Amino acid sequence: MSSSGKSINCKLWEDCLNYISLRAKKSSFQTWFKPTRGELNGDGELKIFVPNQFIADWLMDRYHDLISDAIKEVHGSPLLFQLLVMDSQEAKAQTEIEFHRRPLTLVKPSGSGYGLNERYRFESFVVGNFNQFAHAAAVAVAEAPGKTKYNPLFIYGGTGLGKTHLIQAIGNYIYENSPNKRVIYATSERFTSDFISALSNGTVTGFTTQYRSADVLLVDDIQFFSGKESTQEQFFHTFNDLDQLGKQIVLTSDRHPKDTKGLEERLLSRFSSGLVADLQPPDLETRMAILRRRTEQEGIKLPEDVLFFIADNVTSNIRELEGCLTRLSAYSSLEKTAIDLDFAMRILGKEIIRPKRELTISEIKKRTSEFFHIDPAMMTAKKKTADVALARQVAMYLSRKHTACSLKGIGESFGGRDHSTVIHACTLIEKRVASESEFREKIRHLTSLLLN
Ligand code: ADP
Ligand code: MG
Repeated sequence: MSSSGKSINCKLWEDCLNYISLRAKKSSFQTWFKPTRGELNGDGELKIFVPNQFIADWLMDRYHDLISDAIKEVHGSPLLFQLLVMDSQEAKAQTEIEFHRRPLTLVKPSGSGYGLNERYRFESFVVGNFNQFAHAAAVAVAEAPGKTKYNPLFIYGGTGLGKTHLIQAIGNYIYENSPNKRVIYATSERFTSDFISALSNGTVTGFTTQYRSADVLLVDDIQFFSGKESTQEQFFHTFNDLDQLGKQIVLTSDRHPKDTKGLEERLLSRFSSGLVADLQPPDLETRMAILRRRTEQEGIKLPEDVLFFIADNVTSNIRELEGCLTRLSAYSSLEKTAIDLDFAMRILGKEIIRPKRELTISEIKKRTSEFFHIDPAMMTAKKKTADVALARQVAMYLSRKHTACSLKGIGESFGGRDHSTVIHACTLIEKRVASESEFREKIRHLTSLLLN
């Protein structure tokens, strides 16, 4: 995504942000303040635009005083300010993915009894539209465990989409920033097996005391509690005790509580009583960002077309994205070859390439312009009216999906545009296909015309 979609901050808010960045924790600043924009209106009132209501509420609750102080300091006297939610176009531009080029700072190993893995941190979690809400909720809870309305926080999403990463990042953050808080992380399987061995060893009291001594209880993959009635019963009591004491509970599952079969009704309703946030599959751009982040961390050198090749073909699972990198780097050191596109296609090709029905770009351009009622010459022209631009982007998107042509080749066939224009077009269309049913139907119709 280009940065041209970003609106300009007024100088006053820009300076306030500098002031705030020196006083707030880095991760808090990134989450709550980075995606905001300030506008000073004629009446001397500062409007602060934020991407969603959640962030607005959070800033109002927790950072009202810091914002007031910043304004007073920068402006020289207090000013009224308002928090407003941006329109969705702008919010999208503002939450643009950021890369942190600095290496991750590793902390001392977490106490092993807590079950935390220091690899999972907020700093290494790439945020895009698809996971922004769950991420913000997780940071909120990490900053003020047990003191938010988000208790329990329930995060759900498909496999490999970052549930474990996020729940552990909460744990690591609290562990480092609130050393007096006792954080316990367990998968539901671990909880179950602890309980079963406590039963057979006659140490149920010890088990209960251990789990109920948590200030923060993180339970991963609670879908595995399904059908285990006595464990559910045990967990229900632990949950209630902690809840009554105002302790923080975070749970993850591969589906929404209401879709989890084999869990008792009373558990389901308790699980849904705080905040339920989902993790969606990442879009193309975020997949690229995640791969880039990993290559930097691991010191693997990958050309852009290889990154794109992987991100383009592995669409629904971040763990698989990472698996591709691991395999490539293992093979390349084994064969002592640099990784280029041919190499990547040879090593990964069979597993990850989606079968493609061969079409030619000319066919796609012709059919798409007919479909959108525009002159076919416009496909390669410089003209940028909205209808022409849309038809061109759709044709690029279809060329990527249904031909074996490289990004560079596609760009060249559309009037000598470069590969980043093609990536931009594909991302845009992919997002609309994912979120607008009418548009999705249109593309499906056009695709069926092309393939038949
Ligand atoms: P889940 O628990 O949902 O199955 P994980 O949390 O284990 O998924 O994530 C799978 C892998 O993908 C992990 O290595 C994790 O670090 C990585 N990952 C997931 N989401 C992100 C993200 N948003 N940014 C960077 N890495 C991610
Ligand atoms: Mg997991």
